[in-house]
Amino acid sequence: MVTGRRYDADFRSNKLRNMTVLGGMCCLVPLFAGSLAAASVCDDINDIADGWNEMAEGIYQLDIDTLTMAEAEAIDQSVNDAANTTYQFADDLIASGDSQSMEYGQHLSNDLDAMMQAPGLDELGHAIDLTVDTLDELVDICDARLNGQHVQSQSSGGQFVVQFVPPPTLDDPEITESYNALRSTLESAPIFVELADDIDSYIHLPHDIPVTFQACGQANAFYDPEPRAIVMCYELFYELAAALTQMGVPDQEIAEAVTDGGGFTLLHEMGHALVDILQLPVTGREEDSVDALATVLLLDVDDVDPVLSALGTFKAWELASEGKAGMVWGEHSLSGQRYYDILCMLYGSDPDRFQGVVSDGLLPEERAVRCPAEWEQKATSWDVILEPHLAY
Ligand SMILES: [Zn+2]
Repeated sequence: MVTGRRYDADFRSNKLRNMTVLGGMCCLVPLFAGSLAAASVCDDINDIADGWNEMAEGIYQLDIDTLTMAEAEAIDQSVNDAANTTYQFADDLIASGDSQSMEYGQHLSNDLDAMMQAPGLDELGHAIDLTVDTLDELVDICDARLNGQHVQSQSSGGQFVVQFVPPPTLDDPEITESYNALRSTLESAPIFVELADDIDSYIHLPHDIPVTFQACGQANAFYDPEPRAIVMCYELFYELAAALTQMGVPDQEIAEAVTDGGGFTLLHEMGHALVDILQLPVTGREEDSVDALATVLLLDVDDVDPVLSALGTFKAWELASEGKAGMVWGEHSLSGQRYYDILCMLYGSDPDRFQGVVSDGLLPEERAVRCPAEWEQKATSWDVILEPHLAY
């Protein structure tokens, strides 16, 4: 990160002091994440911000021409150590369950990511400044809560804020390891953040909505209207990967299928969030409506793979039901119906391109003839419903 630069004895002693301040964070995190408002906690966060601030000032004063390699490496080490501690703080905020703390935990984590990628001293100093800004906002929120007030986040409008919570350590080290591997696969897949960014730039949201990937104790994904947050359970992805392995899908294709399928699921849950937060009209099953929304959004931008993965998942669930009627009392249409509804939209969106869906016998002709009109109706309906909420 930093090479060929020098730091002097003053900077070294400053830095040691900073490290002491930053190292003290472990103990205030539970307080902050919980009540977010003990006076000493607000002061401690302030001290952390000050510690980083001093580090940035020291870095700005360095003379690039006389810095030795060993000294530069020592700076790297110190920044990395301090950043790791701050990452832990950010992770604890993300795991706190408090939506504003979660939002700022993610901001802080993003700031630290930028810091880690800084190519030179100036960029490093600037990245630290941004981190200090985020910490300062946290101090404001902390102080305001201490006085019984609620401070709005400073961003105008809102975003879907994607975050990946580390899975807990389980008794079985092999399962713990596979959950950790799953988390890093999902976190490194660009699809989730890209979809969130796409929707953020398409729809005006009144406030942030956390999208939290986490262990839940159940294979599920859901939108929770209270506290208005989307939860994507690692167990759902774990089960899907296991099912694909059992079906003989090669390992190298599983990660892609799981993340693509997860992308469709995320859009489905975002649909529920939009219906709730924007009070969108829904007639018929909301579950079917948001399946249609996810399909329309993806096919509108020719992102076909997540639709195909969703089709594969619904087909697998239908096959797993072995012809039993399934939960006809449930809020979802049956997996087989969801499969054909989405397949019909896919075919209807471009009958020439997806001709094989019919000629290969996947979609019966009796349904296929209606699909171009069904696609048109669903795509247009969603356009009309979302029109008052467009971000541009
Ligand atoms: Zn749903």
